[in-house]
Amino acid sequence: MTNWEPILLANVNRPNSEKIETYMRYGGYEALRKALKMTPDQVTAEVKLSELRGRGGAGFPTGVKWGFMPKDAPVKYLAVNTDEGEPGTFKDRLIVERDPHTILEGVIIAAYAIGAHRAFVYIRGEFFLGVKRWIKAISDAYQKGFLGKNILGSGFDLDVSVHRGAGAYICGEETAMIESLEGKRGVPRKKPPFPAQKGLLGQPTIVQNCETLANVPHIILRGGRWYASIGTEKSRGMKIFCVSGNVNSPGNFELPLGTPLKEIIYEHAGGVRRGRDIKAIIPGGSSTPFLTAEKINTPMGFETLQAAGSALGTGAIIVMDETTDMVEVVRHVTRFYVHESCGYCFPCRIGGKRMLSSLEKLAGGKGSMRDIEDLEYVAKGMYGRTFCPLGTGMAEPVLSALRLFRPEFEKKTTKN
Ligand code: SF4
Repeated sequence: MTNWEPILLANVNRPNSEKIETYMRYGGYEALRKALKMTPDQVTAEVKLSELRGRGGAGFPTGVKWGFMPKDAPVKYLAVNTDEGEPGTFKDRLIVERDPHTILEGVIIAAYAIGAHRAFVYIRGEFFLGVKRWIKAISDAYQKGFLGKNILGSGFDLDVSVHRGAGAYICGEETAMIESLEGKRGVPRKKPPFPAQKGLLGQPTIVQNCETLANVPHIILRGGRWYASIGTEKSRGMKIFCVSGNVNSPGNFELPLGTPLKEIIYEHAGGVRRGRDIKAIIPGGSSTPFLTAEKINTPMGFETLQAAGSALGTGAIIVMDETTDMVEVVRHVTRFYVHESCGYCFPCRIGGKRMLSSLEKLAGGKGSMRDIEDLEYVAKGMYGRTFCPLGTGMAEPVLSALRLFRPEFEKKTTKN
């Protein structure tokens, strides 16, 4: 089993883990004190050195993103994405509910590095406890002098506010989230301009995921070089893997990037229920392509999963055993994305409904070979041709299921 020391989930099982006193008792806000004695450029350089990549799905290098912030812009913002909605993903929610200060400390350090004096937390509306925890954490941080004017006597000012979304999956996409923060309907914006050039209220904005920000205090305290020593060549640091599906002990497991899928499933998540064989694995949330059991030794990293034909995504591993009906799985996933499509571009709006109609016929035993052909034709037509990644994410599971489990689809047809 991989040896590791948790950093992101180190506090979550401690009594009163959400309280600022608990956080500070275990070294909380020491990284902020250290960061405020560095220059903003030094903080960014340390994060670049760590090779931390975003944990929200896209995997963009965090320090590089911070470097995109125009230095001379008079107003800059930081937006914190707590809209975690990818099916199978439940890691940010755990940190927000049990250890919000670890993210908040990352928020303050990130804002200092990019020169933002306002940060906006955008949180999924259904996360009732998470909303409460964010608000309390921010209020306590103000009282202790970690937020507000002249933080810890450094001359740096920062205000943070919390904004609840209304539960739309698309608002996890950074530009749709910005639209929603502005009080508008959550629809993605055309890029460029990217948010770092023109984001919230027209000002340069960095959007960052919670897990990503939770890494930042550790990078500052222990150094970028230390952080980069964990993981693999292109996937550095610790990652929270959310494991669900047909396993004995589902949950969040913090491990170094590059830990083999097999170890996560069998040693940390307790193996497959009833000792059954694995039929399929979703390694990075429901919009990433399926893997079969032959890929079980794949290290969970950005480059290794790509080479295996899938993606790390959010690190949400869904395990399906040999009894799973793959047509049903794809129907469920597609139904979710059709419901969540914002409707802005037609390949996603119309293509999704058409794929779902074929899948419903097949799942109900009323489909034909023509429906399979149509399903594939539409999914290929959508792939890479939609306005935002949601449409392509909807086509991914359909195409990979047809590639890997086509006989299951054919068995469901009426053969006409
Ligand atoms: Fe909206 Fe779907 Fe088009 Fe994205 S791909 S803009 S979610 S309709």
